[in-house]
Amino acid sequence: MPTALTIAGSDSGGGAGIQADLKTFHARGVHGLSVIAAITSQNTREVTAVHPVPLTHIRSQLAAVFDDFPVAAVKTGMLGSAAITHLVAREMRTRKPAWLVVDPVMIATSGGRLLAADAVDAMVHELMPLADIITPNVPEAEALLGEPIRNAKDFDRAGAALLELGCRAVLLKGGHAEGRVVVDRFYDERGMLELRHPRLKLEGHGTGCTLAAAITAELAKGQAPRTAVRRAVAYVHRALVRSYRPGSGSVHVLRH
Ligand code: PLP
Repeated sequence: MPTALTIAGSDSGGGAGIQADLKTFHARGVHGLSVIAAITSQNTREVTAVHPVPLTHIRSQLAAVFDDFPVAAVKTGMLGSAAITHLVAREMRTRKPAWLVVDPVMIATSGGRLLAADAVDAMVHELMPLADIITPNVPEAEALLGEPIRNAKDFDRAGAALLELGCRAVLLKGGHAEGRVVVDRFYDERGMLELRHPRLKLEGHGTGCTLAAAITAELAKGQAPRTAVRRAVAYVHRALVRSYRPGSGSVHVLRH
């Protein structure tokens, strides 16, 4: 079985983060490894606390998994702090996984901050240049570039600007934009690929984590990036159609 690794945060509510990634890896037929970078105290209503894992223990988790498993693809999610982002970038530079997907997780839909403000610089200048695919949503891309994204032209400009950061491809997700159809746009050296799906009238939790994990799983199985992204977008849509409300909050969690 191909093996994929997630380096991300734990969601005690089981809907996002490491928990979503491992469910996705399992559902997509890859063996899932996890390096926990931060621990959130979280439910379907709010994030009440964030505890960054000590750097020595992130390093030892990485050493443990890379010493043993043939890691085919890696994704990063919530990293929390600048120091953790530096460390993960340094480790990825030396360990050189065949595929690296970077989900620049910054703020939870419920409003909790998941990346320190002073970590954005390390994300942009250290981690993103190593990435095969980055998967920002619109608010994240706006925060990374410092420019608003309102229409198709802005999307294309942002896609080009994000590629300039040195990553090989950008999946700019349209879920936070308006309209009855969600349009995600994938930018690489071949140009732009549009992925469209109907907007569902519900608030999903963990959709971004699941999408990046599904892309990573497809890459681990040997799919090319464009195919991996197409399959992953379709997978998240299917899982969202079948989603359910596990807690008292309004958010829906994906059914894998
Ligand atoms: N908690 C953790 C640990 C995450 O990694 C993420 C997203 O990436 C979230 C919460 C936020 O999930 P959402 O914005 O889908 O609610």
